[in-house]
Amino acid sequence: MTVQRITWTEHERAYKSDVHRVAVQPRVINRGPDIGPAVFAKEVTEGIKLGPVSATYVAQVTCPATCAFKGAGCYAEHGPLAMVTTKRLNRRALALTALDVAHQEAEAIDRLTGSRDLRLHVVGDCATDETAQVVAAAAERFEGRGGKRVWTYTHAWRTVDRSAWGNVSVLASCERPEQVAEARSRGYAAALVVDEHRERKRYERDQVTLIPCPEQTTRGVQCVSCRLCFDDTRLIKDGLTIAFALHGDRAGLAKARRTLEETT
Ligand code: SF4
Repeated sequence: MTVQRITWTEHERAYKSDVHRVAVQPRVINRGPDIGPAVFAKEVTEGIKLGPVSATYVAQVTCPATCAFKGAGCYAEHGPLAMVTTKRLNRRALALTALDVAHQEAEAIDRLTGSRDLRLHVVGDCATDETAQVVAAAAERFEGRGGKRVWTYTHAWRTVDRSAWGNVSVLASCERPEQVAEARSRGYAAALVVDEHRERKRYERDQVTLIPCPEQTTRGVQCVSCRLCFDDTRLIKDGLTIAFALHGDRAGLAKARRTLEETT
């Protein structure tokens, strides 16, 4: 900051004043390439849905090409999540493979304290046995630190063996009721996307027993208090499937609804 003295006269009287001038830094327009990791691991999320848990977000190069919602209504491709997180991670992953990103994710998980439950892949997935094993090994180390649970959802359940996920509670993301039995036959508990919840309590649809996600039906419920998805073994044993109503911003919702109509 510099001080400049100004003098002037008015009606034959002399005045003077000190003017403080703040040096303005030139605005940096070109910040160069964004070369950070293609993974975010948050110790505590701000997500209203999840509650105070840890979470990972990874570039979409990790997602299976077969995901019906990729580029067609994926909630991570719309709204603030897309702007702040997904696009940035995808830019950083331009020269990376899914396995590179899985190793980055494992390193990021290893830096978490393990004092809260961990949601894997608010964005992203593991589409091969090898990537799932890398992330599952880090999840096991995480659980060993604080005894908390690790849970996630996958669109790659047709190609990734359930055993590759180890102790992670992992639900197969399904779009059609008949896929639930297919996922079960591969050892997965399932989550089914529906256009809307017909009931608030559990109900039958096409021979599938659905529990509408309580976070979507009951005010104040968060994953951290509900915990249904944290125990896929119990969901399988009790024959239960979590139902998720389509959600997202208006544009994403319209796309997702079209995708769901086309796949059912
Ligand atoms: S069923 Fe429970 S744990 Fe699963 S997403 Fe809904 S609120 Fe979260």
